[in-house]
Amino acid sequence: MPPIYRIVCNTCGEEYSKGWGYKMYVADDDGKRVLCHHPGEKFTIAHVLKLSEREREWVWFGFPRWMKALRGRRVKEIKNLVKERLGALSYCVCCNCCETFELDLVRDERRCPACDSNDVLSVSELKGKGCPACKKGTVVWMDTGIMS
Ligand SMILES: [Zn+2]
Ligand SMILES: [Zn+2]
Repeated sequence: MPPIYRIVCNTCGEEYSKGWGYKMYVADDDGKRVLCHHPGEKFTIAHVLKLSEREREWVWFGFPRWMKALRGRRVKEIKNLVKERLGALSYCVCCNCCETFELDLVRDERRCPACDSNDVLSVSELKGKGCPACKKGTVVWMDTGIMS
């Protein structure tokens, strides 16, 4: 497991994230995003996508070789479901007003919900960049030494 980082400005001490850089989610039939907490992500995914116990293991550990050879309709269905519904939310910061929020960087438009600016960076992109809060310091990642 990777270590947990603190993401802070080296000048004003503004903290941008206390945890992970991103969170896994799975969208349900209505498009509502359900967060998959660690550990136990695979159970959340299976529940939301209505997978059987066996299908859950395929999704998590990969489809067995014999299944790939079969190219069954259900296999295709599950693969598509996973591709369409699984995503990751990244912590993002608005460089204009410093609002923090979560976005799926693949699917969502980069736009701040507070000020409507599109000058939005994910926290990992903020590493080594200027601090949006004080506009003087640099945002750095500090290893807390805590392992997840
Ligand atoms: Zn700062
Ligand atoms: Zn903003």
